[in-house]
Order: sequence, then structure tokens, then C-alpha cells
Amino acid sequence: MKKKKEVNKVVRLALYIDQYDKDGKQVDYKEINQLLWELQKQTREIKNKTIQYCWEYYNFRSDYYKKFNSYPKEKDILNYSLAGFIMDKLKTGNDLYSQNCTTTVRGACKEFEDSREKFLKGESSIITYKPNQPIDIHNERIDLKKIDKDFYLSLNMVNTKSDYYKKYKDTKVRFKVNVKDDSTQTILERCIDQIYKIGESKLIYNRKKKLWFLNMVYKFEPQVIDNLDPDKILGVDLGVALPICASVYGDLNRFTINGGEIEEFRRRVEARKKSLLKQGRYCGDGRIGHGIKTRNKSVYAIEDKIARFRDTANHKYSRALIDYAVKNGCGTIQMEELSGITSDANRFLKNWTYYDLQTKIKNKAEEKGINVVFIKPRYTSKRCSKCGYINADNRKYQAHFLCLKCGFKENADYNASQNLSIRDIDKIIENEINQSAKSKQTE
Ligand SMILES: [Zn+2]
Repeated sequence: MKKKKEVNKVVRLALYIDQYDKDGKQVDYKEINQLLWELQKQTREIKNKTIQYCWEYYNFRSDYYKKFNSYPKEKDILNYSLAGFIMDKLKTGNDLYSQNCTTTVRGACKEFEDSREKFLKGESSIITYKPNQPIDIHNERIDLKKIDKDFYLSLNMVNTKSDYYKKYKDTKVRFKVNVKDDSTQTILERCIDQIYKIGESKLIYNRKKKLWFLNMVYKFEPQVIDNLDPDKILGVDLGVALPICASVYGDLNRFTINGGEIEEFRRRVEARKKSLLKQGRYCGDGRIGHGIKTRNKSVYAIEDKIARFRDTANHKYSRALIDYAVKNGCGTIQMEELSGITSDANRFLKNWTYYDLQTKIKNKAEEKGINVVFIKPRYTSKRCSKCGYINADNRKYQAHFLCLKCGFKENADYNASQNLSIRDIDKIIENEINQSAKSKQTE
């Protein structure tokens, strides 16, 4: 497995302020604008002061050299590195979240460092930062979430000494991301899926558009895997009895995810819903007003719990599946195309797990250079993978497959995954159906 150097990229995200106080009341965007403009101002002051300190230190340093014919060590003079010393001087008296402030100081130190020879020789004038400086956001202070179809960013902006914190008991400001195109959506999804790592980013105000933008840095290591054979297809069945069953054609070995964990979680959630229904809080019982807040809280809490469980489980499952594909040298994964919506409300698992799971499998596969082929979902569970005989009665029971023609007997999800490991299986099945219709006509 070859590893290339990490790639750094930037995506520009248009943001809408979407901040709520602890009682769930929306904070006026004008108030947030004022706060962020103030933080931009403070960022500029910190950068200018940093340059000032650097300049003073280097003047001291060259005087020292003239006297002693050697350079002093930063730690002997300052007790810290230069950046550490400046950080210590500037850490109080501003509202910036401390890690962001550190990022700002380090950034300005580096800019000084990069051109200090020119300053000291007088070849260029010393840096002065103009107003409207972007606010640095440390990568650990960026929290990206997807709720329904929308993306939200929560950014730690202020420290606990700020007036904003004193008023709202919150160091964060939340924004809704305006996603304009599919490629931005894919980048954000991959950041959430941890395929991409978010790096140190910058928040900046655009006066013309009257909008805040985050220039968000994302990083990844492109991987090239040599031993993947595009003709070796891993058939992946997202089934009923098992959440995932995958196999290569003719191989008795299989990859399976046992649904126990999901079942157990489902039972707990259903039980909780039932108890809420009894209390009349879940669906409401006509008592509007007092009840509605409690009801929303409980419902949101459950939905949040489901989303978090699903996300964690699906990451784990998709990662394990892709590892299996790589280990077996499968350059292609074939799955049934699932839509995001299903009308069959009874299929709890299909509803909330499989579409998300499929998306995660696809994203992770593509990162490894594995092709993902989607085929039309048709008869793959009713066709015998050994002889091709299609009959609904082949699968009388959910978990078992028994071919009425050749007697092939296997786990039903495994049989489906075997069908899915055949190239162009949807076209083959269509042919087989047409053939058998023709032969019935002639009979
Ligand atoms: Zn058969």
C-alpha cells in the first residue's frame, strides 16, 4: 500500500448565523454580527502587537550580537519561545477563544519570520494588518454536523471572560451552511465521515455580500492500492436478516454484520416511544401550549439519539466492509441501488440505516480506489446464485434460501450477495425473465 503526502485543500462556505440561547430562543443576528466584527478587530490588534513584539525582539537580538558576537537563546531571554512569550503577553484582555488566539499569534510570528531578513535589511516595510482581518479558528474548535439535509457549523469563538459568554453561557456561535453544489456537499459529508480531516480555518466577513464565510481547510491522504482487481467483485447485500452480507462469487467465505446491536437499540427506542405515547407527550393529545415544549424535547432527544447511534454504527460497519474488500483484492463493489425514502414504514431498518450506510460505503470505497457499481434492485433475493432459477418460493422464509430447481441451500443473504457479485446481474436477470416469459408463451 503506497501512501502519498497529505493533501490540503480549502472550501469556501457561505454561512447564515443560526444561534440560539439556552432557552431555545433565537439570538438576533445583528448581535452576533457585532460580536464577530469586534473579534475581527481584536484579531487585527493581536496580529499587529505580535509583529511589534517580534520586531523588538529581533532588534534586541541584533544588538546582542554586536556586543557578544553570538545570538542569545530565546528561552534564556524570554523564558519561552518567542511565540510562547508573545502568547503569554497577549492572552488576556481579549475575547478570543484561547486556541484561536494562539493560532493567530503563531500565524503572525510565521509571517514575520518568513520576511524578517527583508525587514531587518530595510528592503521592505514592516507588516501592518489592515481592518477586516479573518478570525482564526483552530481545527479542534470546528464542529460540523448534518441535521436532516442541512449542514451546521458550531465554532468556539469567545473565551469565558467575554461579555458574550457572561450573557449566554456559551463560547460557541452556530451557523447554517449554504450548500450550493454537490461537490461542496460531498466535501462536507466526507469531513463528517472522517475521510477528510478539518484543518485550521478562517472566518471572514464579506461586506459586499453582507455574509460570513468560512475558508475551511480539509486534508486527506490519497491512497493507491496496487493489488485491487477491478474484475474481482464483492457483492454486498444490505439485507433483512443481516444488515450486511458480502461475498465474492464462488467463495464460501463471507463478510457479515450481525444485526444484534441494531435490534437491541431498536427495542430500547421503541420502548421509550411507547412510554412517551402513554404519557401523551409523543404525539400530543390536544393539549397545546404547556405540553408542546416537553413533547418536542423528548422527540428531539430520541431522534438525536437515533442519529448518533446510526452514525457510529454505520461508520464502523462500512469501515470493516471496505477492509474486507481490500484484504480480498476486490476492485469493485456491487450493491443494489437504494433510494433515500421508502414507503414501507414497517421496515424500520431500511428506513433509517441502509441509505446512510450505503452512502458511507460508497464514500469510503472511493477513497481506496474501489469502483462502486449500483444495480437495479430486482429479484436478487429470489434468484438461485448457483443455477439462476428465479422463483419467489425459493425464499419461503426470510433467513433461508432453498432452490426449488437444483436444491441449493444457503443463508438467504449470502445467496443474494452471491448474485450481487456477478457482473451485470441486473441485465442477466432481465434476460432470464424475458426468456422464461417467452417459453411460457410457447408452451
Ligand atoms: Zn438453483
